[in-house]
Amino acid sequence: MFDTVLIANRGEIALRVLRACKALGLKTVAVHSEADSNLRHVSLADKAICVGPAPSPGSYLQKGEILLAARLTGAGAIHPGYGFLSESGDFAEAVENAGLTFVGPSSSAIRLMGDKVSAKRAMTASGVPCVPGSDGALPESGAAIDEIAARVGYPLIVKASGGGGGRGMRIVRHPSELRQSVAMTREEAGRAFGNPTVYLERFLEKPRHVEIQVLADKHGNAVWLGERDCSMQRRNQKIIEESPAPGVDRVEIARIGALCAKACIDVGYTGAGTFEFLYEDGKFFFIEMNTRVQVEHPVTELVTGVDIVGEQLRIALGEPLSFQQSDVRFEGHAIECRLNAENPWSFIPSPGTVTNWVAPGGPGVRVESHMYSGYTIPPNYDSLIGKLLTHGSTREQAVARMRVALDEITVAGVDTTIPLHRELMQEPGFREGGFDIHHLERLIEGDVFSEGKQG
Ligand code: ADP
Repeated sequence: MFDTVLIANRGEIALRVLRACKALGLKTVAVHSEADSNLRHVSLADKAICVGPAPSPGSYLQKGEILLAARLTGAGAIHPGYGFLSESGDFAEAVENAGLTFVGPSSSAIRLMGDKVSAKRAMTASGVPCVPGSDGALPESGAAIDEIAARVGYPLIVKASGGGGGRGMRIVRHPSELRQSVAMTREEAGRAFGNPTVYLERFLEKPRHVEIQVLADKHGNAVWLGERDCSMQRRNQKIIEESPAPGVDRVEIARIGALCAKACIDVGYTGAGTFEFLYEDGKFFFIEMNTRVQVEHPVTELVTGVDIVGEQLRIALGEPLSFQQSDVRFEGHAIECRLNAENPWSFIPSPGTVTNWVAPGGPGVRVESHMYSGYTIPPNYDSLIGKLLTHGSTREQAVARMRVALDEITVAGVDTTIPLHRELMQEPGFREGGFDIHHLERLIEGDVFSEGKQG
């Protein structure tokens, strides 16, 4: 198999992957851009190679350069992290064709589940409940589209099959807007994703975002590791995640979880993955699958004790899962606050030098971050500088520990979202739990944080 892993990513996730490799006795290769030679994992890796300039199209997205770096360093596997090339079926296929191991599902599974129309069709066939909608791609004929829309019912959402990152979607509240919305989404999707295929779904007004983590090995075993509630969002970007999802029926979660694990086996999915659902009025509706490790995976690690990145590597090595579904225990409650180098009220990015970084500690506190005092955050990438997690035997204890940790953490030199998190830990809707995905937007519009802004 392989004894060296090339980490095709940067920042906190590259460091997380490096730690998992080291714990398994695997050697590591860091590839980085010219702006990133000062990253923690670059100095900790066995080998490091600069693959291009700061803008990611010239470095982290350079498939050929990354494969060349693997060949030059003798790396037998490539871990793509999240973002960048992690959900590229073409990259996974190039890795396979080079005789290397892609730490993730096969290129064909990425393609099947990465396309939302084919993913929904496969999930429907497996018995996973989906948002009611068109049966696949919309036809050309306007009259035929009208008919499908009338059957699905309004309000609707037109979605691009190849869409991602919250782009390529349009809400339609009235039949008179339908044809133009479809035409516009098609045109945009063709330009942005190189795939003009669009489909329709019923638009859910007040859903929660609840997702299921799965792991599947190459021997036909699959398990689900509980759920994460990621409803605290701004512009489809998750801000806080937690597990378990407050107030959701455990029997229903177990039923959906088992369906997700079975779906992995049905479609030949291997590795770590996440089934994303909208949850409304006690029902789950599948919207899409993420065929990679997610930012919020440590939430699940804290409540299950499973090392998800370690398992990804073990699965890639061809090992069977080290436990069965009946071994999975859910203990206590975990919360993650994403730390971004941004103004906490305007969300404008704030790159620059972190003049002082002091991480918090104590029982049930975990920090995932590549920050250190003197590190300069380049302006070229996502503004995530780390994740602060707490675990407690109850949700209240996890929240209390988060409040203490947020008071303790020190980040000087750049703006961060820490003041927003401090406010949110006190906010009545958050304290109660079970809010929908528009909760944070409503708070921002209502200027609920005005005290925090002054303070
Ligand atoms: P992306 O791949 O761009 O993240 P998703 O299909 O996951 O797209 O949808 C992103 C977000 O858009 C969801 O988290 C939800 O907030 C909203 N959304 C998507 N589909 C629906 C729907 N049918 N009803 C209501 N909101 C939706």
